[in-house]
Amino acid sequence: MSIYSCRTDAGWLGFLSQDTPLGSAAADFAYDIPTALGFVIGSVVTGLGLYLLVAGIFEYLYYRRQREHSEAWKCQPQRFPTQRMWSIDLWLGITNITLGSVLSGFLAYWIYASGHSRIYISLRGHSILEVVVGTVLYFLITDVVIYWAHRIFHRPALFRLIHRWHHRNTVPTAFTAFSLHPVEFLTYQSIMLLPLIFVPLPAIGVIIVLLSSHIESLIQHSGVRIFPVIPWMPSTYFHDDHHRYFHVNYGQHLILWDRIFGSLRRHGRRYGVEVFGGKGAPLTAAAGEPTRFIDYSRRSPLRLSPDTPIGPLGSRAPAGAGRAALDAAGPAADSAAG
Ligand SMILES: [Zn+2]
Ligand SMILES: [Zn+2]
Repeated sequence: MSIYSCRTDAGWLGFLSQDTPLGSAAADFAYDIPTALGFVIGSVVTGLGLYLLVAGIFEYLYYRRQREHSEAWKCQPQRFPTQRMWSIDLWLGITNITLGSVLSGFLAYWIYASGHSRIYISLRGHSILEVVVGTVLYFLITDVVIYWAHRIFHRPALFRLIHRWHHRNTVPTAFTAFSLHPVEFLTYQSIMLLPLIFVPLPAIGVIIVLLSSHIESLIQHSGVRIFPVIPWMPSTYFHDDHHRYFHVNYGQHLILWDRIFGSLRRHGRRYGVEVFGGKGAPLTAAAGEPTRFIDYSRRSPLRLSPDTPIGPLGSRAPAGAGRAALDAAGPAADSAAG
């Protein structure tokens, strides 16, 4: 087994200053390439395997076997993505997951081999309370940061430049979950992984959060009606509506942040690709500020209220810009009636 010593100040971990304890540890770090490859391959196989397995199960059980009975199971029963949109989602997802898994596999190897990350693998010397609190805080803090990162990606310029890649599909399937501009995918990946370098966290808790987050993203995009078994989780209508109504429901896992920051979809508001800001627009000039949020926790199919239409996309859209964004996002071109 060959071992290659390498000063990391020339590598991607070179941002760690040599004056800090982490920096000097990184400088003495020696690469063991076969082991590093093992971590990277393991990470790619896990990431891609989970993606293809979970998305494949939804595809087989619902989209292939029960396509004719979509009224019984689908969030948007009359609409399906086109074959072209489905392929774009699949291959962009595979590309992003491979890229992200190579980076996270290498980071996991560095954490394991250098022994100087703040993450702890053995629980010896750590109380149960410390492990649980560390895991819960990691989950909550990364979830609220991702909420805000996603919300910022919905600002008009960033939406048109980057985030519209993810919103091309207005009838998402599980294959849409990682169909993102690579810049956006790496942003979320960094939010999840950077704390592992600097914050003392239990490795087991981090693995549970990362895997459950991966699976939850697939479920939320599935387009299949699934109602929460965990009280603080929304039904799949929550993120399906995000793709249908665009600038609303920004949360990744928890509905809490949208409630607190006022971006949960409401009754009596108009939404659409041209209605930026997360709070919809009044249905009429005289309409007051609405207060009632849609209830995404109820265990019944969500009826699309006539008071929350998408659009209209003509006269009331802001001049030029909103319509251009819609054309770029191309929802009409990329979805088809079932
Ligand atoms: Zn979005
Ligand atoms: Zn999405």
